[in-house]
Amino acid sequence: MLPRPQLTLLLLSILLAILAITTIPSRLITRLSLFAHHLLHPAPTTNNILKKHNYTTMAYEKELHLAQLAVQRATLLTRRVYAAKSKGTLSKSDASPVTIGDFGAQALIIAAIKHAFPSDEVVGEEDADDLRTNEVLRSHIWELVQEAKLDDAEAEAVLGGPIKDADAMLTALDAGRSAGGAKGRIWALDPIDGTKGFLRGGQYAVCLALMVDGEVKVGVLGCPNLPVDDKERLDTGIGADQTDADGKGVLFSAVLGQGATSRPLTRGTLAEGTSIKMKPLEDITQATFCESVEAGHSSHGDQAAIAEKLGITKESVRMDSQAKYASIARGAGDLYLRLPTSKTYQEKIWDHAAGVVIVGEAGGTVTDAWGKKLDFSIGRTLSGNKGVVAAPKAIHPEVIKVVIEVLGSK
Ligand code: AMP
Ligand code: MG
Repeated sequence: MLPRPQLTLLLLSILLAILAITTIPSRLITRLSLFAHHLLHPAPTTNNILKKHNYTTMAYEKELHLAQLAVQRATLLTRRVYAAKSKGTLSKSDASPVTIGDFGAQALIIAAIKHAFPSDEVVGEEDADDLRTNEVLRSHIWELVQEAKLDDAEAEAVLGGPIKDADAMLTALDAGRSAGGAKGRIWALDPIDGTKGFLRGGQYAVCLALMVDGEVKVGVLGCPNLPVDDKERLDTGIGADQTDADGKGVLFSAVLGQGATSRPLTRGTLAEGTSIKMKPLEDITQATFCESVEAGHSSHGDQAAIAEKLGITKESVRMDSQAKYASIARGAGDLYLRLPTSKTYQEKIWDHAAGVVIVGEAGGTVTDAWGKKLDFSIGRTLSGNKGVVAAPKAIHPEVIKVVIEVLGSK
């Protein structure tokens, strides 16, 4: 039995507790219980999400992983479209294989971006207008999109799994209409860069880059027809007849300030990556320079004149797409020249964003023909620049000097 004063104290506190419970407003009780729930089940923090996928806290690691897998998945679709074309089984619609591959790859990539980063914007080449009015084309592309799956469940989960239905595919396509600009997170996407190369069985690339406040932070290039071996030097045959041979297909990537890598393209999870660097070029006369196959895309005449002035004796290597950026970044070639063919054409950001960060991280410099940094912050085009010159850092000024001489003499 408790002594009398203590018993009184106990009875008094019980009375006070009952009084408090009956008089505290219910809102406060709800808040207290929510607080207790939060203590027991903390909300997923960025760190928890990173841990779940074994991410560390390296900048843009999640973005890089998503972009690599999304590009890898899209290349499965483009390869399938090409195979169907070469077997002559692509007869269900009147559309060209490029149209089918372009729409399909863009839908797959944007769906993955929107799954992981719903409020990010995308600058993509295509929109869904044509597909809304062409049912045959729409259902054909929808079939291919459904079949394009990575054969690794975890990798698919990172991408948000398959697109739900044909309507969701159109919504994804339409999400590529961003006007670009200097503010916020904007992805630049070229689902099939080098369409002519794609058609002729030459080089093409699936290109994706993330820009933050107008600066390219992450770049990924899927090049299904490049040889896996980084050491294989370019030869003039690289632009043709590369299609789907064994041992072909490379995924290049870079994050600003973190270096560039290459890895073989696979059908599932990512292959092991290797760091890539441009080849140190002691003697510029020994350089291998790359240019577009299409004479309409860059001035072959000006480029030949520049090469001659630099004392370069080797024939140029002509190849379509940003595979040119990828090839010089891994030292398979040395220079990429893209001199304008017209006064009015404005280069598109999706034709350069990924390549520029990959070459930069591999030890190169990319500017326009006048030596000006490429400005990705203006909108969908590089309207502040003319042409592109990419070279190893140490010799870039020498190349620009000659480019300006040649342009000035016209
Ligand atoms: P490439 O394969 O390097 O020749 O570049 C292919 C890209 O060239 C396409 O994605 C087009 O956006 C772009 N393009 C189209 N017309 C022109 C032009 N007149 N000058 C430069 N690039 C162009
Ligand atoms: Mg393109």
